[in-house]
Amino acid sequence: MFCPKCGSLNPDDAKFCGNCSSQLAVEPVTDTVRKVEEIVDINQDQEAISTPLKYSVAIAALLFPIIGVVMGIMYLAQGETESKKEVGKFWLIASAVGVILYLMMTGSI
Ligand SMILES: [Zn+2]
Repeated sequence: MFCPKCGSLNPDDAKFCGNCSSQLAVEPVTDTVRKVEEIVDINQDQEAISTPLKYSVAIAALLFPIIGVVMGIMYLAQGETESKKEVGKFWLIASAVGVILYLMMTGSI
């Protein structure tokens, strides 16, 4: 390795420079490995935070179609007026969209 102070070439395992006797860089490879491990740790932390979020979104996406179908059938069954039937249709369409979103999120599509 090269001395950081005077720039003269020294053996890789040398701890001190043969020219100026200043201390040479200590274990640079280990430092790099440590930095990579820190980056991996940060990524794992982010995954730990996002996993409960993914589950709650998936649960919401699953509940939404169920509520949508129930509301849709209720409105269509009791739909004396056109506006109530329209609301029923809206809920059924919304639940279908919810199912598609859920399948997309879980990777089934
Ligand atoms: Zn030196």
